[in-house]
Amino acid sequence: MSTLDNILEEIKKAETIVILTHENPDGDAIGTALALYHSLQQMGKNPDVIIPEYPRIFAFLPKTDEIKKESAVEKYDLAISVDCATIKMLNGFANYFENAKVRVSIDHHSTNTMFGDLNYVSPDAPACAQVLLGILEYFNVEVTKDIGTCILTGIITDTGGFKYSGVTSETFQFVAGLMEKGINVSKVYRKVLQTKTRANFELTRLAADRLEFFEDGKVAFTYITKEDEEKVNAGSGDHEGIVETGRDIEGVEVSIFIRETEKGCKVSMRSNEYVNVSDVCLLLGGGGHIHAAGVSMQCSIEQAKEKILRQIKAVI
Ligand code: 5GP
Ligand code: MN
Repeated sequence: MSTLDNILEEIKKAETIVILTHENPDGDAIGTALALYHSLQQMGKNPDVIIPEYPRIFAFLPKTDEIKKESAVEKYDLAISVDCATIKMLNGFANYFENAKVRVSIDHHSTNTMFGDLNYVSPDAPACAQVLLGILEYFNVEVTKDIGTCILTGIITDTGGFKYSGVTSETFQFVAGLMEKGINVSKVYRKVLQTKTRANFELTRLAADRLEFFEDGKVAFTYITKEDEEKVNAGSGDHEGIVETGRDIEGVEVSIFIRETEKGCKVSMRSNEYVNVSDVCLLLGGGGHIHAAGVSMQCSIEQAKEKILRQIKAVI
């Protein structure tokens, strides 16, 4: 029996199911979680999807009003984590996962620690939503307009609008199929990727102003503080995309963006061609993908900057 047969078996058996994803969820996390929610309902299940906080740009997705912030269920029969590489990144809601009778991880991070009892991880997939798409085909779930819109959201956000190297012909075939079903791809694209909140614009402007170059212009570095976020009244996800400002400058190979948090700082790294930022972040205790990775560090922005630049110097 394949892993997918085992997962299907567990879904059929389970009376209570919870869907979880990583903290600070992005479009892939929310899109995949909701697509799975709709799919399990189609399979006759009544799952919970628990996401305490998410960027309001995703509020238009079907059934976001059914997302729970917490649950009274202490021990689910089945917990499914999507788009999450480690148990640590489930953070505040890891207990729902750990307490469940059976735990499943569906993901696309090469640094996934295989923390489930059953793990279905495809590191080559450009988005976890695309991994789920393959699973739904295997399960004979009909990809409805609602499921398609959620999956499309995951793919658009994790591929930067179909432009990253992980995009495959399957990605475009899926999108073509959605268009045939009458989904307005351009409209979803504008909502989930193109339109920025005012706070996001203000933070991007601040970060751009502070951007510094290192290593002959091959490294771009910038940051935002908690105070900055308070000043612009930032909400969940308003820091998203700032790291791309540095990445897209001619000559830059690695872009580093630090966001000050309650516990220290959250680092985002992007590379263009030859630097594996997932390896760099792994050394510092984080992970991710070759060209997009991150790490949480319990220190000041200045200390994190120094540590990171030292690691980058060795690989640039
Ligand atoms: P972002 O910079 O957009 O927050 O994250 C980029 C990628 O790195 C995402 O795929 C994300 O899951 C991964 N990532 C970010 N922070 C961490 C971390 O602390 N640990 C691990 N393992 N992966 C991370
Ligand atoms: Mn993802």
